[in-house]
Amino acid sequence: MSNEFKRQAIAARRIGRHSSCVRCGEDRPGALIRNSEPRICACCQRKEAGKSVIDDHHVAGRNNHCATVPVPVNDHRACLSLDQYGWPRRTLRNPDRSPLLAIAACIRGFIAFLEYCVEQLLRWAPQELEGLDQYLTEKIGPRWWRRDRVYGRRRRGCRG
Ligand SMILES: [Zn+2]
Repeated sequence: MSNEFKRQAIAARRIGRHSSCVRCGEDRPGALIRNSEPRICACCQRKEAGKSVIDDHHVAGRNNHCATVPVPVNDHRACLSLDQYGWPRRTLRNPDRSPLLAIAACIRGFIAFLEYCVEQLLRWAPQELEGLDQYLTEKIGPRWWRRDRVYGRRRRGCRG
C-alpha cells in the first residue's frame, strides 16, 4: 500500500466515504469539514464566513523553513498538507532544528510542490491539445496548421 493511498484512506475514514461538498461537489476527504452537516468543504466554509480561500503553505514545514506559497485552501488540506503527514514525523516537526532534517524537508517539500504544480498546471493540457488537434483536423483537414489551410490562401514568402 503506497503512502499516498494510506493517507487518502485515513482521510476518507475520518470524514466518511462517498462524501462530497453539497455546494461545490469537492470530494477529496482532506478538503471536507469533519462533522459538517450538510457536508461542506473548507473552501465553501471560508466563503460563507467571508474569509480568504487562499492559505500560505509552508513548503518545507513551519519548523524547517519560512518559505510559503499561496494555494487554495482545499488543495492545501487535501494535497499538500496530506503529503507532509506522510513524511517522517521527526523531519516535519524537527524539534531540535537539525539542519540535515531541514534540508530533507526542503527537498521533500520542493518535490511535493513540483508534483502539485505539474498536476494543476500541466496534467490536463495534453488531452486538451489532442482534442483541439482532432477538432481542427475534422474541421479544416489533415495538416490544418499549413497557412493555406488556415487562411484560405498561401502568403507570399511564407513557408508552411
Ligand atoms: Zn465546497
